[in-house]
Amino acid sequence: MKVAFHTLGCKVNQYESEALAERFREKGYKIVSENEPADIYIINTCSVTSLADRKSRQYIRRMKKLNPNSVVAVTGCYSQVAPEEVAEIEGVNIVTGTNEKSRLLEMIEEYIASSGDQMIRVKKRCELVGYDEMGIITSMESRTRAYVKVQEGCDRFCSYCIIPYARGTVRSRAPQDIVKEVRELLDKGFKEIILTGINTALYGMEEGFREKYPECGDKDGIEAAISLISELTGDFRIRLSSLEPTVVNVDAVKKLFQYDKLCHHLHLALQSGSNRVIDRMNRHYTREEYLEIIDALKEFDPNYGISTDIIAGFPGETEEDFRDSIDMIERVGFCKVHAFNYSKRPGTAAAEMKNHLAPEVKSKRTKALISAGNESARKFFERNSGTVRKVLFEEFHVEENEFIGYTDNYIKVYAKNGKSRRYKQNEFCNITLLTPYKDGMKGE
Ligand code: SF4
Repeated sequence: MKVAFHTLGCKVNQYESEALAERFREKGYKIVSENEPADIYIINTCSVTSLADRKSRQYIRRMKKLNPNSVVAVTGCYSQVAPEEVAEIEGVNIVTGTNEKSRLLEMIEEYIASSGDQMIRVKKRCELVGYDEMGIITSMESRTRAYVKVQEGCDRFCSYCIIPYARGTVRSRAPQDIVKEVRELLDKGFKEIILTGINTALYGMEEGFREKYPECGDKDGIEAAISLISELTGDFRIRLSSLEPTVVNVDAVKKLFQYDKLCHHLHLALQSGSNRVIDRMNRHYTREEYLEIIDALKEFDPNYGISTDIIAGFPGETEEDFRDSIDMIERVGFCKVHAFNYSKRPGTAAAEMKNHLAPEVKSKRTKALISAGNESARKFFERNSGTVRKVLFEEFHVEENEFIGYTDNYIKVYAKNGKSRRYKQNEFCNITLLTPYKDGMKGE
């Protein structure tokens, strides 16, 4: 039987789709592209914005049209927070939430063997307990960088965010399962391991974790996972997908500097540059504390790559609040800024706040943030010009005779093969960064 996946949203969803695909493959199913007719379609949805909900609905309809006799199974954050809405979409056969993904194969087989009544299996948030171990992934599409999921859930309840409702409380993966997966990926030749989760900084923070897993020693939080992975032998590096300043402070970040394998790049979600807005977002840090972390990173490595997310037009955001966000972009010198319009998520605290901004104001501010972010990235590239960084080449473009890879501080590097220079895919190479080029830099 043929199975096709469509995955929306974050890296965690992509990781989980990969893990599911591996289970289907092991049982003899054939994985085909989402544009091909298949017997089973799995749509792994996202609900982080209202646009993500809409896209999820569009894909569900589109995939059923490719084969009206197919089984359509919907999983992920959108089906977790709005199962009835998803069940009403024509052609949906199975609706499941975020904590039953590992059992989706069995559910589909049960559905096929049944009389064909729609199957809805979505747990309530309070029932989302225990880490849903999906098995070891060893067959990522690329052979260079691999994502490894380390935790599930978030209990921070930022006032705009639906994720704690969609993903439930914090559950960390057993350290031995993480280490085993990383070992297998390294043995398969992967050179970069990206640790990911819903809120990666919360790894190992639940009560009793340290007692349950004494192998973590005296290490707290995500440092415990980094420390165990660092002990593995091999030529590889570790990257963190993101850290939340709602969880980590400057001391926690400084502890990470001792791990040589850890890339000099952090994604630290700022969300707003205004203390008033950060407070109304329920995010428990100030811009001054955020800048303290930035100063420590830059003291450690002046060209440390720092990327961020910023929301434009949070309810009640004034012109002055917005200017504070622009000011932070200029001060920090981010290597990448992801800017988004605030999106009202029913059920969150911010959805009930007064003074929601007009869509055109939000869009105008988002555009200005994007443009300030692009300028910041350009300056970051220029600052890096003439420096030597370790690049892991991932792709080779034959027509341009060009290799493409990333530095440890997350600059995309384009390097042309020459008579005296032969680069290789999936190998580290010390590269001199030359000038800004396309969305990154030229190097040799
Ligand atoms: S830290 Fe805040 S923004 Fe991040 S997932 Fe948790 S609630 Fe959402």
